[in-house]
Amino acid sequence: MSTSRPIFVHPADWAVRVAPRGVRPFYVGVMLAAIALTVLAPGNDPVKADWVRLAALLAIGVVQAELSRGTEQIRRWFAGVPHVNMTAVWLLAGALLLPPQLSVLLVALIYGHLWVRVWRPISSRPAYRVIFSGCTVVLSVLAVAPVLRVFGLGETVVDASPDVRTLAAIVVTILAYTTVNSILIMIGIKLHNPARAFLPLVGTWADNALELGTLCLGGLTAAVLISFPNLTILMLLPVVVLHRCVLMRQLQEMATQDAKTGLLNDREWRNRAAGELARAAHKHDAFAVLIVDLDNFKRVNDTRGHLAGDSVLRAVADTIRAEVRAYDSVGRFGGEEFVVLLPEIPDPGARAVAERIRRAIAELEVIVVLDQHATVINGLSASIGIATYPDAGVVIDRLLYAADQAMYRAKVNGRNQVISVTDA
Ligand code: GH3
Ligand code: MG
Ligand code: MG
Repeated sequence: MSTSRPIFVHPADWAVRVAPRGVRPFYVGVMLAAIALTVLAPGNDPVKADWVRLAALLAIGVVQAELSRGTEQIRRWFAGVPHVNMTAVWLLAGALLLPPQLSVLLVALIYGHLWVRVWRPISSRPAYRVIFSGCTVVLSVLAVAPVLRVFGLGETVVDASPDVRTLAAIVVTILAYTTVNSILIMIGIKLHNPARAFLPLVGTWADNALELGTLCLGGLTAAVLISFPNLTILMLLPVVVLHRCVLMRQLQEMATQDAKTGLLNDREWRNRAAGELARAAHKHDAFAVLIVDLDNFKRVNDTRGHLAGDSVLRAVADTIRAEVRAYDSVGRFGGEEFVVLLPEIPDPGARAVAERIRRAIAELEVIVVLDQHATVINGLSASIGIATYPDAGVVIDRLLYAADQAMYRAKVNGRNQVISVTDA
């Protein structure tokens, strides 16, 4: 953590020196596009009412950021989770109400304030990322006026009549805003880490609903600011509270997930296993536990380094998750050992799932960036042990022990294979 980071970061440090090499041209391109389009965007000269609205949105945005400061800074404890940013409420309202250059000025001022007061002390938010995300927001904001023009509304909604066409225009601006922003950020993340699959970067339904909800509040803020400017202050508390709720949800996820892979942690996996045990006992049903241990994983660490090892662990975690059903529980208890709970599956079915996981791991190609060069790690394999309830045990620890013994037999037999407790 570097609380002493300077307020002004030398431009050479924004993107060129700090960001990984593969992503730099993209960052620089987005920055140049944001500047060029701001200069080139057609727009009316600001009038006094525009400056008053800019001041109002800036004031409410700054007050909200100050009230949310504690919440935002708690995020320093968990880098890597999606950063949902409530400022979109004020920035979309600005884009709907102000000439393009003034809405960009609002982005610059609100991001500048956030940098100085909130993000600077959070080392997981380096300056170049703040500037890049500010530029993606500038491009999102600049997408609003063209959409309004397509709907025949001029560059803002200030003089629009409250009819269905205006509603449709605002809905489409919300979609344009979020699409521009998401696509640019997804490309940035993909270039940053080529090993990440592109589509999951779209995020969960919950993340997207939150993003759209935030932007809907932006549309409402714009409407209130035109019709009842004094009431705009009523938007403040809902945004602060919503921001806090997001943090609560993320903390909840953190308490149940393994930070490195996003799989269930020890405690949550055992909770689910206990639930499944109670269900199976009640219904006289079966379920299976798999232990998946990577073969000779130490070699990956020794030859490619620990960071590459971590990338492999994440890729294996994604692979296992992709091979099981949504209601199966995949956990990591630490190390290079994964546990899978397969409800309602007796031994033959579990064996088929384990075989599928084993094959997928053997076919895995993990792209890792080492010394600025992308290399492929393949030739991985795993040994998998299977224990099924109730034959191999009637308590979770006993099942885990039995599956571990079976996995150990797979190691002794030469690795890269599946062994069940029931195998001779
Ligand atoms: P075996 O086939 O017998 O399982 O051999 P192995 O090398 O996989 O097993 P061993 O238990 O000897 O080594 C496990 C290695 O996993 C040692 C440790 O460095 C590595 N490891 C454990 N946790 C992590 C982690 O979080 N990240 C990385 N990169 N490596 C880890
Ligand atoms: Mg191992
Ligand atoms: Mg192990």
